[in-house]
Amino acid sequence: MADLSKYTKELAKLFSTSENILLISHINPDGDAIGSQIALYHYLKSKGRNVAMMAPNNLQEFLKWMDGADKIEVFIRHRERCKRLIEGADLIVMLDFNQPDRLGEAESLVKNSKAVKVVIDHHLDPHDFADLLISESSKCSTSELIHDLVTEMNGEHFRNISYAEALYVGIITDTGNFEHGTYTGATLRMVADMIDTGINKEKILDLIYNNFSVSRMRLQGFALNQRMTIIPDFQTAYIYLTRNDLASYNYIKGDSEGFVNLPLSIEGIIFTALFIEKEGFIKLSFRSKGDFPSNRFASRYFSGGGHMNASGGDHHDTLENTITYFLKSLKEFYQEYQQKDQ
Ligand code: 5GP
Ligand code: MN
Repeated sequence: MADLSKYTKELAKLFSTSENILLISHINPDGDAIGSQIALYHYLKSKGRNVAMMAPNNLQEFLKWMDGADKIEVFIRHRERCKRLIEGADLIVMLDFNQPDRLGEAESLVKNSKAVKVVIDHHLDPHDFADLLISESSKCSTSELIHDLVTEMNGEHFRNISYAEALYVGIITDTGNFEHGTYTGATLRMVADMIDTGINKEKILDLIYNNFSVSRMRLQGFALNQRMTIIPDFQTAYIYLTRNDLASYNYIKGDSEGFVNLPLSIEGIIFTALFIEKEGFIKLSFRSKGDFPSNRFASRYFSGGGHMNASGGDHHDTLENTITYFLKSLKEFYQEYQQKDQ
């Protein structure tokens, strides 16, 4: 386990001396952002701390059942209330992101606030925007990191069902239910503790994974059938979806979640891309296997980033031009990748 004692002393002091603690997750919060946020909330509440939660924009439906989710103030819905929370906080803890633009429209308010700022995160290459940066890219999720920090600050395992459920959500969503990511034996021992705490893992898996609409299911079939291209020479597959495609399947946010992973099940494919046509730009998601650095590809060609095997970026051009640019970039990148292996 990474040595966290260098952080926990300072963190514990900040938690015990701050009057108003605000926990903030990132824009388009995923299961790990909300899971780590809610888990830390329950821990701090149990210690009698005054703590509030905020997210830059709305939570997806599949996360709203979590105990505490209804206490997360959404910035774009209640700007005044969120502004007061930010301005009234003397400690702001930012979870599961490492670039200030992930605060969305709350960025400048947070930047200008007088609060001490802490980042707790597991992504690579953090930007310098916090007074205390707790960045551990060896962790599969921010939730795992939160549990390690809490255990050390608490002196023993913190046993609380809502806390354990939230961490479990963070871990399963960031590892694709233990299919990918940097999870270790320690992660699984921690999940064993969550299960011993009494979480209902069947219920949680059902709430997280078995909640598709019919149109989402059909969109997936269409994407694989009509919009997937395989490039055997580069061990790559990509899927694109136009705005028209999305509209004809009554697309709602989150419906294309997971599509990018699907072609990785094809024998020989090590790199996948998903192109989603947005208004005025193309959003890209990348996944890879092994040591193919999808995040380097994302940052070099698509002003993005992320993890080795899961990353993303965007491109401000038409879908057609973006695909052409992708293919050209891929050729260059794949050749370099192969040369490295020789
Ligand atoms: P997803 O494909 O699920 O949207 O994103 C996977 C991961 O890629 C995220 O956890 C995040 O780390 C990273 N990512 C996605 N989009 C972007 C982006 O536009 N910029 C950066 N820096 N990272 C991104
Ligand atoms: Mn995460």
